[in-house]
Amino acid sequence: MAETSAPRIVYVNGAFLPIETASIPVMDRGFLFGDGIYEVTAVLDGHLIDNEPHLARLERSLGEIDIPNPHSREAWTEIQQALVARNNLSEGLIYLEVTRGVAERDFLSPAGLTPTVVMFTQAKSVRTSAALAKGAAVITVPDLRWARRDIKSTSLLAQVLAKRAAAAAGVNEAWMVEGGTVTEGASSTAFIVTKAGEIVSRPLSHAVLPGVTRRAVLRLVAEKGLTFVERPFTVEEALAAEEAFFTSASSLVMPVTSIDGRPIGGGSPGPLTRELRQLYIEAALEGR
Ligand code: PLP
Repeated sequence: MAETSAPRIVYVNGAFLPIETASIPVMDRGFLFGDGIYEVTAVLDGHLIDNEPHLARLERSLGEIDIPNPHSREAWTEIQQALVARNNLSEGLIYLEVTRGVAERDFLSPAGLTPTVVMFTQAKSVRTSAALAKGAAVITVPDLRWARRDIKSTSLLAQVLAKRAAAAAGVNEAWMVEGGTVTEGASSTAFIVTKAGEIVSRPLSHAVLPGVTRRAVLRLVAEKGLTFVERPFTVEEALAAEEAFFTSASSLVMPVTSIDGRPIGGGSPGPLTRELRQLYIEAALEGR
């Protein structure tokens, strides 16, 4: 799982470099404006998990803000695999970012900028986590984000604030609330399981990021013949739920056992959530 003591190698614009020597110009629009897109893919046993849909979402996000995609899917995958190999990464995450590029600071950018590409790996336990045994505690916070949350933008200030509030409250994640309903987690998709056994999560729209892990979990839900209902749910409904969980590339399927200090279901990870996590990991490793 851990990277070796060999130097950590990052990828910047075509070069694999020790992280200490890699740099980005001050005038990069990612730094100045958050004018960029990112993706995070989990790595298990050295394999990229669900990478195709991550690259598809990257393509879509870039298109929505009119940044040319600098690489084909095949080329992206080759770079990612090379970086995983160079860092001897068995388990963790691979992060990639594409910004509009480097130009004198101005809201408008000159035509024909070359996008900046950065990629790095993070060694991390993905299959096991401290929160897993007890389940994650969540607080609710107002959703302060912009109106195009379907774009995986590097402008993440609202999520940073939500995560800071969660850390200050001593919990693992923040669920963002708008108009009385939960939009999503600060870095995850929110689900509840009702007393009737329905799995509920918000429909995809501009209000939420279309989670890659959400998609994979929904396929497993369908395969198991379980009922998925795509609709918004309120905090009150979540508090009354049988189970709750969130999904993301870095947390996979994470049980939620308390919201705003109040226990969910029996106050321990629910059986359906635990099963979905297990099934997700098995399917991911089989490369489905
Ligand atoms: N929603 C938000 C706001 C996120 O930032 C993330 C992941 O970072 C997710 C949902 C989960 O997406 P995925 O399953 O593709 O990691």
